[in-house]
Order: sequence, then structure tokens, then C-alpha cells
Amino acid sequence: MDLLHGKLYWPATLPAPPSYPVLEEDISCDVLIIGGGSSGAQCAFELAQTGLDIVVLEKDLIGSGSTSANTALLQYLGDKMLFELVNSFGEEKAILHTKLCEKAIDKIEEVSKILPIDPDFKRRDSLYFASGGFGSNKLLHENFYLKKHGFKSELWSEENIIQHYPFRKQSALYLYDDGEINPFKYTHGLLQYAKKYGVRIYENTPVNGRKRDTDEITFFTENHHSIRAKYTIFAAGYEGLEWKKEKNSVLSSTYAVVTTPVEDLSDWYKRTLIWETARPYIYMRTTPDNRIIIGGLDEKTNNAEKRDAKLIHKKEKLITEFNLLFPITQVKPDYYLSAFYGGTHDGFPVIGQYPEFPNCYFLFAYGDNGLVYSGIMAEILRDVITSGSSTMLSLYQQRK
Ligand SMILES: Cc1cc2nc3c(=O)[nH]c(=O)nc-3n(C[C@H](O)[C@H](O)[C@H](O)COP(=O)(O)OP(=O)(O)OC[C@H]3O[C@@H](n4cnc5c(N)ncnc54)[C@H](O)[C@@H]3O)c2cc1C
Repeated sequence: MDLLHGKLYWPATLPAPPSYPVLEEDISCDVLIIGGGSSGAQCAFELAQTGLDIVVLEKDLIGSGSTSANTALLQYLGDKMLFELVNSFGEEKAILHTKLCEKAIDKIEEVSKILPIDPDFKRRDSLYFASGGFGSNKLLHENFYLKKHGFKSELWSEENIIQHYPFRKQSALYLYDDGEINPFKYTHGLLQYAKKYGVRIYENTPVNGRKRDTDEITFFTENHHSIRAKYTIFAAGYEGLEWKKEKNSVLSSTYAVVTTPVEDLSDWYKRTLIWETARPYIYMRTTPDNRIIIGGLDEKTNNAEKRDAKLIHKKEKLITEFNLLFPITQVKPDYYLSAFYGGTHDGFPVIGQYPEFPNCYFLFAYGDNGLVYSGIMAEILRDVITSGSSTMLSLYQQRK
């Protein structure tokens, strides 16, 4: 799958990342993780200290998939608004999921402190503004559930907004304690940590075949080596769909720009993460070296050529949209990309288990909070593999 195209910012922040060998022998292990992006790395981290024998196989270089495109806003609210999740799943499940997202951000913060590569985690509040009158209504609904369940949020009026930002919007939710991170450094940091505990990691090692015996699958690499594993986690990102089409998933295209460093960010209140109620939305954040990341303008296409043909236009449009909010901040694009982006129809990520893949778990951490979702799911899979169950598994198991 042609996951992305453009000039990437995150790999440039870690110019000499750790490297790993190609798998050159037949092996067996307790858990095989297919995919060395942030999801695979989170699974490796969670499993590293269980005493199990863990292997990670990455077909290209570690972190070179969607992880390199990820704009890495860490938020507890997602693509589908909380009140929409309540409509689809009921209040109990929707709230449980949102609380798990909150906890997952706490965990990412804790883990970031102990990694051998600092992933630049920072707590950030979010401003979620109403894109129009209809958006204001949605935020009212959203705030009802947030308040009822004790999430740290405030509904801001137009007055509040113009006191803090150089733009005017009818209303906004101000959400406390979200976060931001460097996903490329995070992935490398997690894997370096896991390696210390004996996790075996291989790059440039595509898995391209499988053979099923009754309740066991042997996987094969492109260079004809076999891997026998008791359990397999497919953490192959959007390319997991090439192994198993999950009906709940939906693939679209998205765009992002990273500007050159900006001298003065003083009119950006607390460097909040900013996004909006419109779908598709525009969102933005800052970086530790004072750049601005602007993303969004999603398109429904899952055709890479059509996606990439729009990149130059989208790059300019993202800058224009930014300047509608911050008119006096002069920005120049430095890095920019087009990429596939996966979500689910119902707004919950999916852990897939399918009869034709015995003892395999598909981690479809799809959605705008992919990094947060895969944090939750890595813990669930650790528990399922080590103790046979997790009370949270049923929340994310594939829906009919
Ligand atoms: C532009 C953009 C912005 C985003 N913004 C956010 C955001 O703000 N916050 C957020 O939380 N999430 C965001 N996401 C989602 C986030 O990027 C993803 O959830 C996350 O990067 C997925 O990581 P992953 O490890 O699942 O996938 P990937 O990074 O794609 O990793 C999967 C890996 O598996 C490897 N692989 C695939 N097939 C095989 C095989 N057969 N054999 C061996 N290896 C294989 C691939 O090479 C790849 O490296 C964004 C996504 C995009 C595209």
C-alpha cells in the first residue's frame, strides 16, 4: 500500500535512528508482532517484561509507515463526538472508552519519562471550536456528557475565545490535559527499551506468506524464512487490511503541513491543540522547535494517485486556513505530505479475531487518536496473551 507521499518532518528530528538486522534464519517465538510502527512498538513495550519471547518484524524501516506521517495530537475525544458514541454504543461503553483514552494519555506521559530516546511528550490543552451554528449545538451536547462524567472541560463563549485567541468563533470546548508527542522518537524509544528486555527486532523483513495447521499459523518472510509463533499480533497499520478486510474500517486521504520555525507564538494561547466540529476538519499544533503543524482537508479517495495529485493545492489551502485563524503569523511550509488515513464507521477502534487466523489478533487502531487507541489495545492484548483474558477485550472486539 502506498501509505504516504511528501517530505516528512519526524524522521528529520532523529537523523540517525537505531537500526536493526534483517531476519536471516528460521525462528520460533511466543509472540510475533508484524509491524514496527508505533502500534507494534507499544505492543513490544507492553510485552517486554512478561518473560515471553517476543519478535517484531518490520518490512521497511522502523517507524517509516503512518507513524512518520502522524501529526501526534494526543486527545481523549475523537473523530466521532462523545454524544455520537453514546448514541451508537450506549452511555456506559462510550464513557468507558473515553476514560480509557484519558488513562492512555497518562500512560504515554509516564512511559515517555523512562525511554532511552526522549519523545518530547508535552501536556497540552485543546480548543475544540464550533465551525458554525450547527457546531455550537453539537458542542452543547458534547459538554453535557463531559460535565456529567467529570471530564475536565469548559464550554467557552465567543467572548472567552476572543480574550485568548486572535479569532472569533461562536463557541468552543476548552479541554484540559491532552498532549502531544514526537511519534517517530516514541516508536524508536519504545523499541530500544523493549530490546533491553530481550525483544528481538528485525527491519527490512517483509512477512508475505502463511501456512495454517489446525490451530497454528507459520508465517514466512520474503527471503523465505519461517516464524512459528504461539500468538501473532498484526500491528501492520492500514496495511493490516491487506491480510484481513475489516468491514468496519474506512480508508480515506489526508494532508498535513509543517511550517518553518515561527519567531513569535505569543498569540497562540498555551500552544493548545486546535480543532473544529466540521467534518472534514482542520487541526493544528506546535512543535518543540516552534513550527506549526496544520492538518486535515481529508478527501474520501483511497486512490494514492488522486490523493497525491492534490497535495500542492492542499498545502496552500492548509496555510490559508491557518491564516484565517492567525492572520498576523507569517508561515512558510517546510515539510508537507499526503497520506492514507483509516477510521472506523462506528468510531471505536477494533481488535479483530478471525477463524481463519487462529491465535492472531489484528490491531486496527484506526481513528484520529490512533496512538492513544493502540496504547489501550496493546495493554488489552498483553493481558489476553499473558492471562487468557482482559475485561476490556469485548469493548473493542470486531462488531457484526
Ligand atoms: C496524516 C496523519 C495524521 C495523523 N494524526 C494523528 C494524531 O494526531 N494523533 C494520533 O493519535 N493518530 C494520528 N494518526 C493516526 C496514526 O498515524 C496512526 O494511528 C499510527 O501511526 C499508526 O501506527 P501503526 O503502527 O498502527 O501503523 P504504521 O506506522 O503504518 O506501522 C505499521 C508498520 O507495519 C509494517 N508492515 C506492514 N505490512 C507488513 C508486513 N507484511 N510485514 C512486515 N511489516 C509490515 C509497515 O511497514 C509499517 O511500518 C494520523 C495519521 C495520519 C496519516
